[in-house]
Amino acid sequence: MNGHYAIAIDGPSGAGKSSLARRVAARFGFLYVDTGAIYRTVGLAAYRRGIDRRDAAAIEALLPELDIQMAYNAQGEQRMLLNGEDVSEAIRLPEISICASDVSALPEVRAFLLEMQRKMAREHDVIMDGRDIGTVVLPQAELKIFLTASAEARAERRMKELAAKGVKTDFEAVLRDIRYRDEQDSARAAAPLRQAEDAVLVDTTALDFAQSEERLCALVREKLGVEEKA
Ligand code: C5P
Repeated sequence: MNGHYAIAIDGPSGAGKSSLARRVAARFGFLYVDTGAIYRTVGLAAYRRGIDRRDAAAIEALLPELDIQMAYNAQGEQRMLLNGEDVSEAIRLPEISICASDVSALPEVRAFLLEMQRKMAREHDVIMDGRDIGTVVLPQAELKIFLTASAEARAERRMKELAAKGVKTDFEAVLRDIRYRDEQDSARAAAPLRQAEDAVLVDTTALDFAQSEERLCALVREKLGVEEKA
């Protein structure tokens, strides 16, 4: 405990971590930190340079050239800046999800981004989501949640999200991407996706968004003893 509360939410792609964390953060007045966006920014940089995303030496050589900043706009939304350019929308494209998963398997990339994530938690009450927040980034977090749902349920939700942004794609392609990332995120040697021993498992397959939100808020009240902002 450094004077600030930390809530860690880990789990596979599409489990609803970011939408739920954003809501819980707003209700309790915490800062929401989306760490996937940071890995996506590195993935985008590699993609734009035409670097083979699995070429560890080339990615490592790229890192010192990257100035990655996280900024919050007036609405409290997290924006990602890559060498001064706002790339918050560009990093959301499906091809960048795959790049992010590939580059995030490299220990050099993880080490490069670690301090940036911990700094946010030293300076704010945070609810941070990712794959290794409870296990590696913030092992002292007061509340750890492992949020999951079946691959099919996650693919369906992701389709709706993309459709809302006007991105057309088919169910099988989305499911294939989800399975690819599940497999890679869980099997990698560096900070694999796994539930921390002291994390609470929340499976949202059979829960709708409002039910999932209430479950998470109940955990926050119970474990942190804090109340919602008026
Ligand atoms: O959460 P999101 O889908 O935006 O993350 C993109 C990719 O970044 C994930 O598939 C995962 O491989 C990687 N990631 C990670 N560690 C985190 C957050 C994301 O390895 N803490």
